[in-house]
Amino acid sequence: MEEKQKGKQKEKMVDRRTFIRTGVQVSIVVGLGGLTALVARRTGSGEYVWQLDPAKCTQCGRCATSCVKTPSAVKCVHVYAMCGYCDLCGGYFLPETKTLNTGAENQLCPTKAIKRTYIEDPFFEYTIDEELCIGCGKCVKGCGAFGNGSLQLQVRQNLCDNCNECSIARNCPSGAYSRIPAGRPYLLKGFGKEKLDIT
Ligand code: SF4
Ligand code: SF4
Ligand code: SF4
Repeated sequence: MEEKQKGKQKEKMVDRRTFIRTGVQVSIVVGLGGLTALVARRTGSGEYVWQLDPAKCTQCGRCATSCVKTPSAVKCVHVYAMCGYCDLCGGYFLPETKTLNTGAENQLCPTKAIKRTYIEDPFFEYTIDEELCIGCGKCVKGCGAFGNGSLQLQVRQNLCDNCNECSIARNCPSGAYSRIPAGRPYLLKGFGKEKLDIT
């Protein structure tokens, strides 16, 4: 009897998580889709844009320091569909943090660009304030080490000057940068190819 109840509770939690994920998954598509107009001009002329492949990136920090723009045109993007909505988020908290609260002293991000929002026990949502993000990749490294790798760096095409020779690409030790068609300007790890059709 007790086992049956536990099973029902578990089912309910899985349903709830699926619901949360689906909801926020839509929001990232809409968020990136908002850039459509900005990249459409490039798409029409068959142009290419610079983008980094999160699967090759080693979070060396140069995306923050080598861009000709200040702050960098590279930002952290959250792929909500991959996120575990963890209470103990490796991308949000410093590794030695003992108390899981939003105190500035507990946060990994040097610019406090990540917002932590309570959803329901034990789930939290993490959103990036791109105006504050400098593209340092610290949260990406933390999430990759302890979580699902849902925080990823990307060149934000609305901020990028699409330099003839990208100075980050020249300095990237992992060869993560390449020119990709402007019609598909994002390379998000774990995102179905069909979801990348955002322009
Ligand atoms: S320069 Fe290359 S390895 Fe370093 S953070 Fe950027 S994409 Fe990742
Ligand atoms: S840790 Fe770095 S990459 Fe992550 S949100 Fe903060 S500034 Fe952006
Ligand atoms: S193309 Fe230029 S503006 Fe864009 S990410 Fe590279 S250096 Fe920065």
